[in-house]
Amino acid sequence: MEITIIGSGTCVPSLRRSSPCIMADTGTAKILLDTGPGALRQMLKAGITISDIDVIVYSHFHTDHTADMIPFIFASKYSPGIFRTRDLFIVGPPGLKEFYRCFTMAYGKWVVPEHFTINWIEVGESPLPFPSFVLKTSPVKHTENSMAIRIETGEQAVVYSGDSDYCENLIRIAHEANLLILECAFPEGMKCEGHLIPSLAGIIAREARCKRLLLTHFYPPCDSTDMLTPLRKEFPGDVMLGEDLMKIRV
Ligand SMILES: [Zn+2]
Ligand SMILES: [Zn+2]
Repeated sequence: MEITIIGSGTCVPSLRRSSPCIMADTGTAKILLDTGPGALRQMLKAGITISDIDVIVYSHFHTDHTADMIPFIFASKYSPGIFRTRDLFIVGPPGLKEFYRCFTMAYGKWVVPEHFTINWIEVGESPLPFPSFVLKTSPVKHTENSMAIRIETGEQAVVYSGDSDYCENLIRIAHEANLLILECAFPEGMKCEGHLIPSLAGIIAREARCKRLLLTHFYPPCDSTDMLTPLRKEFPGDVMLGEDLMKIRV
């Protein structure tokens, strides 16, 4: 599996860090995890187009994680000569279908596909129809419907926290992951409810016994603060600080 960090930032406009978006390429499927604002254009810098994507999974409905959902659908419908004909799967927490329905109230038929089908899947409603990989989710501590996402192919497992505070569910779903991607929104000493700081990320990584840890979702203060020292006190393993367009082989 290859992971590409499309955006390692937040809602704050930043030239260094685009809003949250990660691509997992399993070899047989290209899966986007969240599509924050600017994700579609940022994907091009990584050599990925919207036509390459098979599945999008949303961790929660905050704007910094979902804003490019409608541009994705609109561009898939109206790119002359290269519009999408292949089915697309969009997976998310309960409420996903209502979330999209509200956009169709605002934008009308323009955001309803004609030449392809979107399979909208709210987790928990049915088994997930992906034969080439296993997709698991677990509720986490952020908003009412936030979830962490685990992708497994053969022996490899990658886990993405979405946005979350410290919680048992996150440790459980991250158990022995080959790569654990955790949000770490704020530096040590700037704890904000619903988000992690380096020491908590380290504790989760240690308790989950993940093989490697990658931090992302950095608000600007993170870039002028030592994130690693407080983290290493809790987790002695392999740690990476995410950057836009970073690629990691798992
Ligand atoms: Zn959020
Ligand atoms: Zn966020």
